[in-house]
Amino acid sequence: MTGQGIGTRCVQGGYTPGNGEPRQVPIIQSTTFKYDSSEAMGRLFDLEAQGYFYSRLQNPTCDHVASKIAQMEGGVAGMLTSSGQAANFFALFNVCEAGDHIVASSSIYGGTYNLIKVTMAKMGVSSTFVPSDASEEELAAAFQPNTKALFGESLANPALTVLDIEKFARVAGEKGVPLIVDNTFPTPVNLRPLEWGANIVTHSTTKYMDGHGVAVGGAIVDGGTFDWMAHAERFPGLTTPDDSYHGIVYAERFGQAGAFITKATAQLMRDFGCTQSPQSAFYLNLGLESLHVRMPRHVENGQAVAEFLEGHPLVSSVNYPGLPSSPYYQLAQKYLPQGGCGVVSCELSGGRPMAEKFMAALRLAAIETHVADARTCCLNPATSTHRQLSDEELVAAGVPAGMIRLSCGLEDKEDLIADLSQALDACR
Ligand SMILES: *Cc1c(COP(=O)(O)O)cnc(C)c1O
Repeated sequence: MTGQGIGTRCVQGGYTPGNGEPRQVPIIQSTTFKYDSSEAMGRLFDLEAQGYFYSRLQNPTCDHVASKIAQMEGGVAGMLTSSGQAANFFALFNVCEAGDHIVASSSIYGGTYNLIKVTMAKMGVSSTFVPSDASEEELAAAFQPNTKALFGESLANPALTVLDIEKFARVAGEKGVPLIVDNTFPTPVNLRPLEWGANIVTHSTTKYMDGHGVAVGGAIVDGGTFDWMAHAERFPGLTTPDDSYHGIVYAERFGQAGAFITKATAQLMRDFGCTQSPQSAFYLNLGLESLHVRMPRHVENGQAVAEFLEGHPLVSSVNYPGLPSSPYYQLAQKYLPQGGCGVVSCELSGGRPMAEKFMAALRLAAIETHVADARTCCLNPATSTHRQLSDEELVAAGVPAGMIRLSCGLEDKEDLIADLSQALDACR
């Protein structure tokens, strides 16, 4: 599939049936796999032969879909995980351990922020957060001798900041650590971070990739561009013998292209078990088959809704990187020339009471803690995800009480705008 267009990779990547085999990716609903001799199975356990033995580690359905996502991102290897949270945890924990440190953009998904800031700290991994628009000097200053990764989101959920991937990649390269980019919102249809210098890409496939709100999942793709052996002392987990695998040295045995995903599978998936079910992988693949057709429509609707809201007197501000008024417009033009996604946020002039009235009046946009599927939905962070914060704390966190996050689905934009318009009228 290398060299094929993104649409062809979405539709046909990762699975090529042989003569008389199922045209659609088969769901291999089996926990285990049968062998003729224990010797043959032993070779699999020692990672000496390729094959399946237990679906906690690997399953053919999941592998086909992971391979499709790797092809879409232009990477060399991929794996599925049970959720986006698991994908980000595995991607980070695959390169660090207790005593190590991570530098991350502060403009990231709340769940990932908690994971890094609170939970990984309990595991002995400390972190420093930097603004996503920090200068190269500020970024470099956040590094410590024990820093093992730089992390950011290509188009942040929910702040919609656009990451200057080339800048982050330059600093990561100078410091000799991989740049890990969560590419959930743009998807590889709109942005491929590996092409801009990121080393590893993660996804919450729960969002646009699935796109129909049916299956929670995650994915990790390795670009194969990070030379672990050149920084052997910094990454002992990849460059020194793994006692739990008879002394295998991942970077030696599997090379630059295979080390990262093999270790994450053989070690982290084995021990943490955050595996995706073959049934979920099948649903995910159905979503991927139309991702290149759906993303332009999400962008078209997001742009139209953002422009409508920006011109409305009851809306005090709109945040969408496709608007020239956005501070991220220039970066969006560079990294997201075909647009980013269908998520738009705006602040209503009447604060919390107006937000409540507005949302109650919407007919098409449903109130949900979800984004990025076919049906338009909305959320007022102040009364849901950020409910525990006071109005002052909400302003400090960049989510004022009157803020609404809208995820534009695949409906007709005229109908979405009519719905928003009548709901705004109801607030007058
Ligand atoms: C939703 C989301 C996650 C977490 O993914 P889950 O599948 O919900 O675990 C991580 N990163 C981003 C950018 C997200 O939008």
